[in-house]
Amino acid sequence: MCIFLCCFFLFLTYQTAQSQIPLPNAFAHNDYEHERPLFDALQQGFTNIEADIHLVNGELYVSHDRPKSSASLLKDLYLKPLQQILKKNQGRIYPDWNGTFLLMIDIKTEASRTYQVLKEQLKQFPELLNNPYFKIFISGNRPFEEIRNEALRYAGIDGRPEDLGKDYSYNFMPVISDRFSAVCNWNGKGEIPASEWQKIKNLADKVHLEGKKLRFWAIPDQANVWNTLLKAGVDFINTDRLSALSAFLNKKPTKVILMIGDGMGTAQIFAGLTANHGQLNLMRCQQFGFHLSQPAPVSGFITDSAAGATAFSTGQKTYNKAIGVDTLKQPLATLIEIAEKYNLATGLVASCAITEATLAAFYAHQPYREMEEEIALDFLKSNIDVAIGGGKKRFTNRKDGKNLLTQLKEQKYQIADLNDDFTQYSKGKLVAFTAEEHPKSIKDGRDNQLSQGTQTAIQILNQNEEGFFLVVEGSQIDWGGHFNDAEYIAKEMVDFDQAIGIALDFAEKDGNTLVVITADHETGGLTINDGNFEKGTFEGKFTTKQHTAVMIPVFAYGCGAENFAGIYPNTAIFDKIVKVLFNR
Ligand SMILES: [Zn+2]
Repeated sequence: MCIFLCCFFLFLTYQTAQSQIPLPNAFAHNDYEHERPLFDALQQGFTNIEADIHLVNGELYVSHDRPKSSASLLKDLYLKPLQQILKKNQGRIYPDWNGTFLLMIDIKTEASRTYQVLKEQLKQFPELLNNPYFKIFISGNRPFEEIRNEALRYAGIDGRPEDLGKDYSYNFMPVISDRFSAVCNWNGKGEIPASEWQKIKNLADKVHLEGKKLRFWAIPDQANVWNTLLKAGVDFINTDRLSALSAFLNKKPTKVILMIGDGMGTAQIFAGLTANHGQLNLMRCQQFGFHLSQPAPVSGFITDSAAGATAFSTGQKTYNKAIGVDTLKQPLATLIEIAEKYNLATGLVASCAITEATLAAFYAHQPYREMEEEIALDFLKSNIDVAIGGGKKRFTNRKDGKNLLTQLKEQKYQIADLNDDFTQYSKGKLVAFTAEEHPKSIKDGRDNQLSQGTQTAIQILNQNEEGFFLVVEGSQIDWGGHFNDAEYIAKEMVDFDQAIGIALDFAEKDGNTLVVITADHETGGLTINDGNFEKGTFEGKFTTKQHTAVMIPVFAYGCGAENFAGIYPNTAIFDKIVKVLFNR
């Protein structure tokens, strides 16, 4: 497996090296603290960069606190490389980009003497001066009057809200900055109160009226705050999280929730829709496509859940019953494994056992889906952060006599047992068992554990700043199909749709999340011959007790949803998720 995985990751790394779309709103706070100052930010498309400087013995060092002997010189880290890039691109940092690249130099030592030295240095870098596509401005200890009275201007000044209304030009004062908490009393959690939003909006309007840009420092550095600030008109998002902000501004998700309604064809959806009086959360989705669910030719025309989920999780067609392996029974890299390689948090939620085929194909590698005890052992080898569903006995009541709960605890998992309230967990690693084998059906009284599990998993996984990948399965829609029980299907469909609602609500607020909802295959050959939205009744007819071959709908919502329009093979679900989540 290792060789395959390594090649795959090399390929992904190569892919990520290129994209470089200039991002006018991206401001790299303390840029010099990144592994490759300036160049990490440029690779992510940042167009605004901050460097703190200290004057020591006549030289300018880049550092936040008093520079250590290892500190780099401003001219080495920024002035020289910037001059080189400007020369190469005919005066621009990004070829063909018409915006102005800003270098904010934050003076930490005495304003006037430090600025004199800076000015002398800048004279040696003429490309950085009088360039419409490049501008330096000074923050921190600002030589305000000195710069204001300069006949030939080397730099502008970082303004404060109290500098507004004084007729200062853009050339002198291109940006107004303030500490976030000085303007707005919001900690970034939940929705911003309307009054606080209005304060930001008012300031942004005033700043724009003077042709200047607005920046806050010390913001809660997270997507929903970025989203809110941009909507209120703030120009610069001051961040330490270069790749996360870049993904956000490029509308590439850092979080993906893949929701699989097992056996959910269009008739199953319509059954749920009718039973729920003409309404489903699913209808909030913005993009639609279809996939062709056929397995590898060796298994004929109709897929089972194992081959179907393996196609989603690995991008490879395989034989029915295969769990995360190819037609030669060789392990394939799964989306969960790839996500973990990229430091994303990962999770699984299902209304069946977590060792059942659909979820298993995302973390296990076994030749046959029936090998659930081996699959449970594979779970221990994964580094999944949250798993919520049935299947406890695969961990505790085993042929090999092992109690895998002991190992789970050693691996720092919190374990919520059958009757525990798993919703009380909000961080750390969690395995929550909802049944020894499979949870019962909604018809037989299962509670809303699928929605609650989805909510809990999102809450925990969202603690990870790099993002997450979560798979949620509405497992029993399929079983209703096998039983040719239309009511069973409708009830499971509505239950799955409630979990969909939780995911869509999160994606809507977050702004960095993609939700993809589809099925592995249709089950039962269901069609609807009559019905009534008002009464919530319908007449379902089945053509088989097995799976069928028909096209399966794909619904997508949020960041990157547009990639899911069209008709494509089931393996393309993998390709599209890889593209939006890792090619950044
Ligand atoms: Zn089935």
